[in-house]
Amino acid sequence: MNGQVLAPYAAFPENSAGRQYPEPATPYRSEYQRDRDRIIHSTGFRRLVYKTQVFVNHEGDLYRTRLTHSIEVAQIARTVAGALNLNESLVEAISLAHDLGHTPFGHAGQDTLNACMRDFGGFEHNLQSLKVVDELEAKYADYPGLNLMFETREGILKHCSARNARSLGDVGLRFIERKQPGLEAQIANVADSIAYNNHDVDDGFRAGLLSLSDLRSQTLFNDQYEIVRERYPDLEDRRLIYEIIRRMINRVVTDLIVTTQKNIEVASPDSIDDIRNMQQPLVAFSDEIFAEHTALKRFLNASLYQHEQVQSMTGKAQRMLEDLFDRYMSEPGEMSDEFSARASGDESTKARAVADYIAGMTDRFAIAEHERLV
Ligand code: MG
Repeated sequence: MNGQVLAPYAAFPENSAGRQYPEPATPYRSEYQRDRDRIIHSTGFRRLVYKTQVFVNHEGDLYRTRLTHSIEVAQIARTVAGALNLNESLVEAISLAHDLGHTPFGHAGQDTLNACMRDFGGFEHNLQSLKVVDELEAKYADYPGLNLMFETREGILKHCSARNARSLGDVGLRFIERKQPGLEAQIANVADSIAYNNHDVDDGFRAGLLSLSDLRSQTLFNDQYEIVRERYPDLEDRRLIYEIIRRMINRVVTDLIVTTQKNIEVASPDSIDDIRNMQQPLVAFSDEIFAEHTALKRFLNASLYQHEQVQSMTGKAQRMLEDLFDRYMSEPGEMSDEFSARASGDESTKARAVADYIAGMTDRFAIAEHERLV
């Protein structure tokens, strides 16, 4: 990668558990670059453009969707990985794939589908992201899914219950043995929270749901607000917000790199397996930034995600997905051929096929299906 020498504890394809279905190497791309490319060419990835992050896609053209969110996560994660001499292609692959299992309508969709699946093992978007790349993508003649490298799959599965972990084989093992994933997976995980904390400030402000004075209650925001205000006293609000956000991202990303570098020096790992055997993740913020970052997350949860305007979308989405679930359960033939074929079997098999079908929908396809069927 651009002549960069990776740290000995980075992920190296030659030391990897590799792919579930072995494949010969290619001459000009690393195995993790191939994974990233497979993800970019997947159907699930294209659908992310029409999936809600917080604001429903048709509410405005400037809000983040799952696709732009995933690209922002990849950008942040690559910066951190590059600075720490870790595998940039791997963090990019994990970041771009991490939300592939998300339902339409953001967290409202996930919670609803989970409730519908209560008697059939539940629904968890993180596990679903792994299922998309392992099973549901149907693109290659020789195997189901995208046949990704172990480390990419390890990174996609950020969390998992012990019960689910037992059915996942190699990639589930760390949740039973309480081990860590590699540093690239740890970075993609934290980059996800940095991306949404910052873009939700921007989207929430644009939507008029968060005011400058609301935001100034947050140390992370207010520190940068004061710096920008002093330097540019006449800056209009729109540019003021951008100046603050880019500085906030820089502040937390720099803190993450410096703190993680220190943690690595103290732990002095020799290999990715040393990283996996540690008690704690090494990728971390300083205590101060961790507290500010967590406070901002809580603030956004209370003031933005619970805002009545966002919640009214939540209620609509909930009813829509419940209706669709019931309808496909009683008439599985209304799903596409692939899924209706899978739905023949006991109730639990049918419910899982229905959940996979609904989870794959974009917001607008779910709305169209709801209009067609209900
Ligand atoms: Mg995400």
